[in-house]
Amino acid sequence: MGLATSSQLFAFQLANDAVCQNAMETQLPDLKFAIEPPRETEKGCGWDLGINMTAVHDVGFSPSEVMNRCPMAAANTLWIKQMNIRAQEILGKRVTTVLHFDTYSCRNVAGTSRLSEHAYANAWDISGFVLEDGTTISVLKDWDKAGPKAEFLRAARDEACGIFRVTLSPDYNAAHANHFHVDMGPSRICR
Ligand SMILES: [Zn+2]
Repeated sequence: MGLATSSQLFAFQLANDAVCQNAMETQLPDLKFAIEPPRETEKGCGWDLGINMTAVHDVGFSPSEVMNRCPMAAANTLWIKQMNIRAQEILGKRVTTVLHFDTYSCRNVAGTSRLSEHAYANAWDISGFVLEDGTTISVLKDWDKAGPKAEFLRAARDEACGIFRVTLSPDYNAAHANHFHVDMGPSRICR
């Protein structure tokens, strides 16, 4: 828990966009990213400083880009490193690709009139992983199966809980049966 707590503090310290961008460029050399220009919509959606990541520590993404606000991108980076340590412990193999759904989407939290953290490019939905030998691990298909794939998925979720403000897995509700939702919004949930 000690490392995870300090990781979360690190991500929070990057809440200032200028500090965050500088940290991304100087302290995270394994991160491949481009700056996304600010965007604001009529509905109040958008971001100030977007970080469009294509790889972290040799881990790629499918789809190939993950665009988040800078502090969220920092949290993603920390989580990918921790998640991959657990993959090697539990599965004996590295993760090479994180499978995901959207990051930015101008929409409300389902069933409410409140904007989702996705509307601020401050959230990410993760649906699975590909290992170095080509094995796919699916949140939907493997979460409820006994064995190392399910053990790894729980470990990846637990690592996320220590880094992101909000981590929702299939344990949360049926809407998350096929993905982990993580965000750096004001709520605090780990399930
Ligand atoms: Zn989500």
